[in-house]
Amino acid sequence: MKEQIDKIRTDFPILGTQVNKKPLVYFDNAATTQKPQIVIDTITEYYSKYNANIHRGVHFLSNFATEATEKAREVARKFINADAVEEIVFTSGTTESVNLVAFSFGETFIEKDDEIIVSEMEHHSNIVPWQMLCQRKGAILRVLPFNDAGELEIAKLPELINSKTKIISVAHVSNALGTINPIREIIKIAHKSNIPVFIDGAQAAQHITVDVKELDCDFYAFSGHKAYGPTGTGVLYGKKNILEKMTPYKGGGEMIAKVSFEKTTYNSLPFKFEAGTPNYIDTIALAKALDYITDLGLDKIYKYETELLEYATTELKKIDKLKIIGEANHKSSVISFIIDDIHPSDAGTLLDQMGIAIRTGTHCAEPVMQHFGISGTMRVSFAFYNTFEEIDYFVKSLCYVISILT
Ligand code: PLP
Repeated sequence: MKEQIDKIRTDFPILGTQVNKKPLVYFDNAATTQKPQIVIDTITEYYSKYNANIHRGVHFLSNFATEATEKAREVARKFINADAVEEIVFTSGTTESVNLVAFSFGETFIEKDDEIIVSEMEHHSNIVPWQMLCQRKGAILRVLPFNDAGELEIAKLPELINSKTKIISVAHVSNALGTINPIREIIKIAHKSNIPVFIDGAQAAQHITVDVKELDCDFYAFSGHKAYGPTGTGVLYGKKNILEKMTPYKGGGEMIAKVSFEKTTYNSLPFKFEAGTPNYIDTIALAKALDYITDLGLDKIYKYETELLEYATTELKKIDKLKIIGEANHKSSVISFIIDDIHPSDAGTLLDQMGIAIRTGTHCAEPVMQHFGISGTMRVSFAFYNTFEEIDYFVKSLCYVISILT
């Protein structure tokens, strides 16, 4: 992949731009990724030539857009190797996917005093919807802790499970620590007690090959905008037999089979969960993004990003007073760190002056910060279009920033 980088970078127009009169170094890929030209062009092409509301028309444009949307569903199915397109629900992102399952699964299966397990390293998106469900139903949220290296204490999972446990929801990859969690093991443990597992793949699907059949997870969610697709897109996978039993999330057009004032019946999967006019043009463009990364090869992407991660980790560790937060054995290309006496946002602001985009703060994972007794971190997160030269420039700039601030 290293040899292809120059060519790959030209596919992403924003990477050729300048910020503060310096070439952009974009290390905020865990927040959102940049878009290849094919994604940008698809959005323009569809609005220019093929726009009409889907699923309802008899005319050419509506049929064309409908067909493209359903082709996009097939691309998403293949991308995560789901059994059937009925198991692929388009959402606005991982946040909506968790809310959908927390509501619809919750309405159907959760009763007072039931228990739900999440981990201590979850993004707020995978905590708050479950907390809201617990409040609605009088259920209890249990938390699987992680150790100081940032690894889940998996040995404690069987102790947390009991006859009241109804679902387990964990991140495939932590956005704050970079840890790749042992989800296969979690799923196996859960399934021994017939407990379904929701995997938050927001930080995983664009970095690691995901095979939902092989994982045997019950739900898997990822965000389109983190996978080089447009904002406002997302994919929720759910096993058909569970989705079928779940009550709809939102009511409206398209999610119904028949409506009368006496009784409404619901549409088949996946439309039962897609009320209203969906974000079809962005979804069509998302499929182009998924095709793009599939063509590059997720195994190649993972290998190259791991090389970037290892190189940056080694270089950052040479910096005096810098501490990496999250040193799990198995990590994705995310590095959180703190530096003695330096406020993350001061460093982030100065790096921005040098054209370098990093993220600072709690990364929507306040419990992770509470675990380490810190108020936030600096975070760099790499994509396959990043380079070793960018890491060198970043490390040099960071050393300069430290010299100014201390
Ligand atoms: N889960 C994880 C692990 C994340 O990193 C994020 C976003 O950063 C989300 C969920 C929420 O994703 P979105 O904002 O795209 O809905």
